[in-house]
Amino acid sequence: MKFLTVDNSAEIIGAPYKGRMLINGELCDAQSGDQAERRSPAHDVVVGLYPNAARADAVRAIDAARAAFDEGAWPNMSARERADVLLKVADGISARVEEMALIECLETGKPLTQARGEVSGCVDLWKYAASLARNLHGESYNTLGESHLGVVLRQPVGVVSMITPWNFPIWILSQKLPFALAAGCTAVIKPSELTNGTTLMLGEILLEAGLPKGVVNIVTGLGPAVGQPLVGHPKVDMVSFTGSTRVGRLIAAEAGAALKKVSLELGGKNPQIIFPDCDWDAAVDAVVFGVYFNAGECCNSGSRILVHKDIAERFTQAVIERTRQVPVGDPLHPDVKVGAIISETQMGGIQAAIDEAREAGATISLGGERHGTEPGLYIQPTIVTGVTSDMTIAREEVFGPVLSVLTFESVDEAIALANDTCYGLSAAVWSKDIDVCLKAARKIDAGTVWVNTFLDGFAELPFGGFRDSGLGRELGRHAVEDYTEQKTVQLHIGERTNWWLPK
Ligand code: NAD
Repeated sequence: MKFLTVDNSAEIIGAPYKGRMLINGELCDAQSGDQAERRSPAHDVVVGLYPNAARADAVRAIDAARAAFDEGAWPNMSARERADVLLKVADGISARVEEMALIECLETGKPLTQARGEVSGCVDLWKYAASLARNLHGESYNTLGESHLGVVLRQPVGVVSMITPWNFPIWILSQKLPFALAAGCTAVIKPSELTNGTTLMLGEILLEAGLPKGVVNIVTGLGPAVGQPLVGHPKVDMVSFTGSTRVGRLIAAEAGAALKKVSLELGGKNPQIIFPDCDWDAAVDAVVFGVYFNAGECCNSGSRILVHKDIAERFTQAVIERTRQVPVGDPLHPDVKVGAIISETQMGGIQAAIDEAREAGATISLGGERHGTEPGLYIQPTIVTGVTSDMTIAREEVFGPVLSVLTFESVDEAIALANDTCYGLSAAVWSKDIDVCLKAARKIDAGTVWVNTFLDGFAELPFGGFRDSGLGRELGRHAVEDYTEQKTVQLHIGERTNWWLPK
């Protein structure tokens, strides 16, 4: 398998980015002065220096967001004014794509080319949210009889805590923040401790765009120290979390006990179903892309394929051959498609999942080993065959470049296998038979079903999961409404009558 290196990586990496938190309109360090460094998983050099905040910093950030909501101008501004700020932020991101893409690449280990696409893609999310801001409206009921008029108002929900993971740091934040701001909410954000860079750069952009103080606050640090107070604090009205199902469950329990609104985007074990009449080349390409994109560290990773028995051997062989061509290596190399794994811990988890599959009786038909030269954290693109639905590798997220191959004989069996995990984030169906595609699309329990394509996404289309993959949806035309409360206002028209005790 190819492994590409870069001779002048130190020159491209340059000096570490020293990010500062944003609290009440000011860039600041942790009150304790503590700092944490982030080393690039591909090069093992320090690429970022960040405040290592504690509970007291998180509480300062929550207080600022609360005051900005209760006393500040933002929630009561016209939608036009809020949209103008969002559009300025979009321009600010556009102007810093290269700088943000480099830190995203260095901290996550993903290819720089891909990080560039991710950062520039965020610009569209901010613009889309600005368009929704101006279309947010309630309802009126002029049908309640002569004496009544009903008006349903949409009001911002209040202070929203946003807790994000490390795999698509700026993209995932941009699925939340501009929509909450469009609604008139204020926010406290905690990025993953492994990937603070682009979120803190966004803080600088928000200031330059003229966002009033306290409307967005960013704190950096560990989950239990900084994330946990953002969930339980009584001044927070809603929690929007993207991350693992394990932490999502903790957050839902805590938010539930406090009766806070919560939205969760969690894990997935997403199947691609391959029928014999599929567009062969496109399906092979989508399988390879679907599982190795972002080194498989993707909630939407197509980490299982379900292949019809009649073509299983030939199709799997074609996937193996195509996978051998995937360039792995230094994420700074322009041709690399699979970069480094985020951390030693994640490497260990991926290797344990491969070992467990082998012990359960599956075959490692390709890869399965550490790749490249240390200290870089790389794993070979891996294909596990002979997998059955009862094996852990078929049921649990690996979050690495590991594909499981299962087989089926009928449409019904394929659908049953697709639904045979606790997750329900996404799935794909590959067939030229429209009846087969539509049946599968209807019957598979997943927030997104792709038909003859994979991983396409549009701001207009809702994204989220069934079952253990989450609660609620992001994006789509209702994305701003999710950050609002409805208020019913009932008006009486004309002469008032005493209906309870007539005179
Ligand atoms: P994680 O759950 O470990 O961490 C996510 C965030 O939660 C981090 O910021 C972390 O610091 C914080 N956190 C940890 N413990 C906390 C606590 N007790 N209280 C509050 N916050 C806490 O997830 P991760 O490893 O960063 O990301 C990978 C996971 O995210 C995968 O399971 C993946 O499927 C999921 N994910 C889902 C989506 C989606 O949209 N469905 C998108 C991307 C990632």
